[in-house]
Parts: sequence; structure tokens; C-alpha cells
Amino acid sequence: MAGLFDTHSHLSLEPLCGNLEGVLERAFSAGVERIVVPSVSADSWNVCSELASLPGISCALGVHPWWAEDGVDTDELQKKLQETGAAAIGEIGLDWKTEVSRHKQYEVFQKQIELASTMDIPVVLHCRNAFEEMLHLLEEHSVRGVIHAWSRGPQLMKRFLDAGLYISFGGAVTQQRALRVRESASLVPMDRFVFETDSPSMSLAGVPAGKSEPEHIVLVTQAFAQLRKLNLEEVQQAAWNNSVELFGEQD
Ligand SMILES: [Zn+2]
Repeated sequence: MAGLFDTHSHLSLEPLCGNLEGVLERAFSAGVERIVVPSVSADSWNVCSELASLPGISCALGVHPWWAEDGVDTDELQKKLQETGAAAIGEIGLDWKTEVSRHKQYEVFQKQIELASTMDIPVVLHCRNAFEEMLHLLEEHSVRGVIHAWSRGPQLMKRFLDAGLYISFGGAVTQQRALRVRESASLVPMDRFVFETDSPSMSLAGVPAGKSEPEHIVLVTQAFAQLRKLNLEEVQQAAWNNSVELFGEQD
């Protein structure tokens, strides 16, 4: 049976980083074989790339919209990506729910999209309430990547699929009341989804708030399999194949 692949876990943040050994032990004994750790700002590039030297762990480097105020040095980012063999640029995006200037967010996002396109490296996208603006930019550049923590319905999902993106499902599919997301999960093509925990902050049914870990990717996989009326192995294999297709084999 294929391993489990958590495409988005903030292992560099508390409480995960303070308990790394235990967190990884629990993940590996639950069948997790790979984890992608996204950075959020230039300050976290080093710690994320150090984590990526551990077996089974890869990193994504970039500047998250919440940290966009200071801009992004794309020469430095390109150098870091090359030096560390990072799997992606991330997490990057647009978040119209924060106080950070939209103009600044757009500029930082656009620069990183251009870099991804030049380097032909995938992107890990964060988007809140800025879907039109994001799609507009994605349609102008040819980039590969994933939109993380999908929270919307199938119509909007289709537009991201048409733009060539993978859709990442997390804790929301485990919540019975998350009807829009569950409808998306029931319709996403089998070769276009991946799974994530977005630990430690994302909530999953049955896990106390703020306590999610990569091992909980099992719950996402089970919920998705139930929703699609497929067996677990089939879903796990598809998620693994899609994640490797997106992020590549580990060095
Ligand atoms: Zn995240």
C-alpha cells in the first residue's frame, strides 16, 4: 500500500517544532512517508530547509501574504531554492481578509509567480477572498502548483482545475457541515487532488483545536474515501501519486 503524504504541515511552528521527535514518530507509525513544510517568511527559510534534511521531509520557500509588507527579494529566494533543493515556492498568495495592503500582497505574489514560472518549480497557494485576482494572475503565467486548504464549492474549483492546479483537501472534508468542500471533494478528478493537515492550526473532526499533526492525514484520507465510496487503498494510492507528480521524488 502507498504511504501517506501530508502536503502541508508547519513543522517549524510551535507546538510541533518543540516536540518534533514525537510528532514524526507518530506520523511515521501512522504510515506517513512524506511531509512538505511550507515557510511563511524569509525568516523561516533556514529552519524549514533544515527540516527538509530529515528523511521524508521536503520544504517550500516563499513569502506568505501576511508577511508581504516587507516585500520579497526574489534573487535571494531563487538562490535559497537552488541551494536547498526545495520542492516548491510557498506558501504564497493573496488574502483579502488581512490588514496587509492588497497592493503590496499583489506585488509580492506576482513576483513569486513570475519566479516559479521562470524556474519551472511548483507553487503552494494560499487564497482568501481573492479568487478572481488570483485566477487572473494564474491565467497570465504558466505555473504548476496546488491551492491549499480548499474551502469552496465545485464551480470555483473547476476554474482552478482549468488553470492546471491541484486541489488540496484538509480538515474541512472531515466536518459533516462543510457542505461546499465536501461537494468539491466528491467531484474532483482522481488525478488532481492531494491531502494536507495544515497542522498545527487547521481543525479536524475529533482533534482538539490547535493540536493537529501530520498523523491526522489518516482522518482526511478516510473521510475522502467515505465520501467517494472508494476503498482506502485506492484513495491513498491516488493521493500519493498526485503528490509525487506535483512535488517530485525526494532527493
Ligand atoms: Zn499553511
